Amino acid sequence: MIAFPWHRGELSRLLADRGRIPHALLVHGSAGIGKVEFARALAASVLCETPREGIACGTCASCHWYSQGNHPDFREIVPEASLEEEEGEDAGAKPDKAKSLVIKVEQVRAVADFMALTTHRAGYRVLLIHPAEAMHPAAANALLKTLEEPPAHSLIVLVSDRPARLLATIRSRCRMLSLGAPPREEALEWLRAQGVAAPEIALAGAGGAPLLARDLAEPPEAELRRRVLAELSRPGGADPLQFAAGMEKASVERFIYWMQTWVHDLLRVRLAGEARHHGDFGTALKARAQAADVEVLFALDRELVEARRLASHPLNPRLVAEHLLMAYNRATRPKG
Ligand SMILES: [Zn+2]
Repeated sequence: MIAFPWHRGELSRLLADRGRIPHALLVHGSAGIGKVEFARALAASVLCETPREGIACGTCASCHWYSQGNHPDFREIVPEASLEEEEGEDAGAKPDKAKSLVIKVEQVRAVADFMALTTHRAGYRVLLIHPAEAMHPAAANALLKTLEEPPAHSLIVLVSDRPARLLATIRSRCRMLSLGAPPREEALEWLRAQGVAAPEIALAGAGGAPLLARDLAEPPEAELRRRVLAELSRPGGADPLQFAAGMEKASVERFIYWMQTWVHDLLRVRLAGEARHHGDFGTALKARAQAADVEVLFALDRELVEARRLASHPLNPRLVAEHLLMAYNRATRPKG
C-alpha cells in the first residue's frame, strides 16, 4: 500500500522519527485527495519490519500480511454501507438500505480486546477509522476511553473530510495532520494516467481533488452532471417538478454537490468575474449570474450546505430536489 505521490513527502516527514509518532492522529482535508490511502500507507509503514527510510518495504512478512488484508495487528473500522460499496465494485449498485452509514458503538467495542492485548508481531498495532465523522456519539465515546489511556505501541488514525463534526474531546486527543490536494499539473498528469478522458473538466468539477475527479468522470456521473447543469442553465429557470420526478436516492447527494458548485460559480462570476468549477458552461453561468440576486444566492448556498449534511440519510429524494430547484429559481429569476 503506497500513498499517492503528492503525499509521500508528508508521509516521510511523519515517519522520519519513529520515537515521535503520536498515539493518535487525525488526518483531515478535502474529500477525494487520497487521505485514506495515506492512512493505509502510514499503517503499513508503521507495521513494516524492515522499513526503507521509514516507508513500508513491501516485501517483509508484515507487508505481506498487510497487503493480503489480514495483518493481525491492524484493524480498520468503516460504516457497514461503505464496506459493501468497496466489495461490490459495481458503480451502479445502490447501497443496501439495511446497511448502516454510521459507525456503531459495537464496532468500536469489538476492537477493545485488540487494543488491549499484546501485539502478535511484537511491534505496533494500528487502528484506522474512517470516515471518523460517521461515528455514532456512543461510538465516539467508546473510542474516547481508549484515547484517554492509549496502550503502548499503538497508533489510532482517524480520517475525516469534516473534522469540525467530531467531538471536541476526540479532536483534542489527536495530533492534527492536514493534507492538501496536489498542484493542478500533477493532478492532471495522474488523471491522464488513469485514462480520464477530459481531465481538466473533471478536475475543475471536483475542485482540484484528483480522486473525486476520477469518480466524477465515470460515464453515469458525467451524465448526471450534464443533466443537472443543463437544468440549472435554462434561461427561464429550472423545471422543479419534472426534473425532481426522476431523482433517485442514489443520486441526491451528487445532485446537491453539483448545485452547490454551480451556485459557488454563480457567486464567483458575479463577484469576481470567473468560474472555478464549471468553466465549460461559461456562457450559461454568466447569463444566470447576471439575473441572480446575490443575497438570495448566499441564502441558497447555506441551504445547500444543510441539505448536503442530511443527504446521506434517507429523505424523500424527489421532495429534496424539488425544494432546492424552487429555491434556485427564486435566487436566479430574471429581474423586472
Ligand atoms: Zn515491510
